[in-house]
Amino acid sequence: MNLILLGPPGAGKGTQAKMLIDSYGIPQISTGDMLRAALKAQTPLGLEAKKFMDAGQLVPDSVVIGLVKERLAQPDCAKGFMLDGFPRTVPQAEELDKVLGGLSKKIDHVVSIEVPNSELLGRLTGRRTCRACGQGFHVMFDPPKVEGKCDKCGGELYQRDDDNEATVSNRLKVYEGQTMPLINFYKVKGLLRPIDGLGAISDIFGRIKVVLG
Ligand code: AMP
Repeated sequence: MNLILLGPPGAGKGTQAKMLIDSYGIPQISTGDMLRAALKAQTPLGLEAKKFMDAGQLVPDSVVIGLVKERLAQPDCAKGFMLDGFPRTVPQAEELDKVLGGLSKKIDHVVSIEVPNSELLGRLTGRRTCRACGQGFHVMFDPPKVEGKCDKCGGELYQRDDDNEATVSNRLKVYEGQTMPLINFYKVKGLLRPIDGLGAISDIFGRIKVVLG
């Protein structure tokens, strides 16, 4: 099964992606995670991407398309994959179609997690992640037992550089202007599966599973 997870920043794509990996055994391809890994490794690509990420802007299409193209050709994508945070623009989606065509693959479902704008700012600014294992928390909605420490592994929790209020507002504007057109792009192709992104994490996951069958 080849999936795309679509939705605004803070919709819960990453959280649902982790649950989908466990259920369906397909790899998650998160361009945001790939860019953060490149930054951590201080590669030229990572350092270049940082400027855009810190400003809440999109990294140029050619950069992310190159990353995804390479990743999709890896053997673990043969049984399926889940794209999280890609595509984010219509040119990225068109390029993805070409890349998949070349690999004789196609997208089966575009899961679009819908959350009202009023919810997103609070979700994003309260988000915390474990530096060691990547587990996500939220200071209000899913706080760790001990402040600043991961419940799972005891690792240190941190806030993403781009989850501050100023950058978040910009990311939401960028989503509306550049990514929302993809909803219609995939609706026309008959691939769009809208999911109500409000409520308990497990309930949202249940809704996604119903749609995927
Ligand atoms: P995310 O972790 O998906 O929220 O992505 C964090 C940041 O990485 C975004 O705000 C962008 O700056 C950059 N980024 C991630 N995916 C893409 C993409 N498909 N196209 C352009 N920029 C991206």
